[in-house]
Amino acid sequence: MAGIYLHVPFCNSRCIYCGFCSTVSRDLRQKYIPALMREIQERRDFFSPLYESDRIIKTLYIGGGTPSVLPTEILNEAVSAIRDAFKIAEDYEFTVEVNPDDITEDYALSLRKMGVNRVSMGVQSFKDSHLRWMRRRHDSETAIKAYRILRSAGFDNISLDLIFGFPLMTLKDWEENLDRITDLNPEHISAYQMGIDPETPLERMEKTGEFSLPSQEESEEMYSLLQKKLKDGGYIQYEVSNFCKPGYHSRHNSSYWNRTPYLGLGPGAHSFIGRHREWNTSDIATWCDLSTMQIREGETLSPEDVFNEILMLGLRTAAGVSLDTLRNCGPQSPLFISDLLPKLSAMESNGLITLTPDGKIKIPPGKFFISDGIIRELFV
Ligand code: SF4
Repeated sequence: MAGIYLHVPFCNSRCIYCGFCSTVSRDLRQKYIPALMREIQERRDFFSPLYESDRIIKTLYIGGGTPSVLPTEILNEAVSAIRDAFKIAEDYEFTVEVNPDDITEDYALSLRKMGVNRVSMGVQSFKDSHLRWMRRRHDSETAIKAYRILRSAGFDNISLDLIFGFPLMTLKDWEENLDRITDLNPEHISAYQMGIDPETPLERMEKTGEFSLPSQEESEEMYSLLQKKLKDGGYIQYEVSNFCKPGYHSRHNSSYWNRTPYLGLGPGAHSFIGRHREWNTSDIATWCDLSTMQIREGETLSPEDVFNEILMLGLRTAAGVSLDTLRNCGPQSPLFISDLLPKLSAMESNGLITLTPDGKIKIPPGKFFISDGIIRELFV
């Protein structure tokens, strides 16, 4: 089993908090598809070290940037080339990220025709004042309308994103956002705490004192409300930031957490196979330049890296990580396990970790908010 991620690095405007690889430049859009075609050809043997049956692509995810700023004919060209170059499973999950103001009936139907069976839409908030402050292009009404259009077009697997933890947002606003989203009843919800990424307008505003994040206590209160409201709404929390109706977890994102091999195409995209990780340059012009071969860097993970990565990715999920998986992940694992066990038992007595009778290590959902700190303490 394997996955493919395709990065579309274009947006029509930049959001205040965005640290993703994306540009508003239209000139580069012309160069993008030829460069992508070249990369698809160059990478068609990426999965060849795997057994034949493991080379089958089970998930395809087109993310960004904003893939929906591109006409579906262009996206379709890319998807056709991917279908020609790789072996795709019949029941594959095919997700495209969209922005609400790009969604028209025609666009939604074209996505369906392309074979897209899951749409992820960045709503972020249902309050127009929040959206304006974030410099999002859409307003709340547009997001709701886009959601309804997607439903009418036949999409039965829709994910909506929300953001919390910024000063403009009160606890009451957040509660109302959660009520709105559960009323809409999407199959999947991702909710992210706002962070300050380097070289973003938000970082500059923080430096000049125009902006500061709310206190940890305030954000934690919002996170607890998120967990409660979505649980009451029939959602299962399967990862720190991800909630779904039963059976609707993101198969693509879950494969990252399970360390399934994946190929990343497009600027800034990451790839992973075995113990090897690679990343394309996030300089979009360089990536687009057909004469430049220096678009990719890579590293081979050390035994410690592999162990820590399995631990980190597993502990961010509700399923946790199995001690057996850790024990068998490399020749030095028994050594790492002996370092880990005393830390685990200390954390278990503090209620930060649960050790299950079937040998799983989990972070209790009530401690997910501080999971990064817990995981860091456990690294070998
Ligand atoms: S739409 Fe997404 S990728 Fe584009 S600027 Fe906003 S957050 Fe970044």
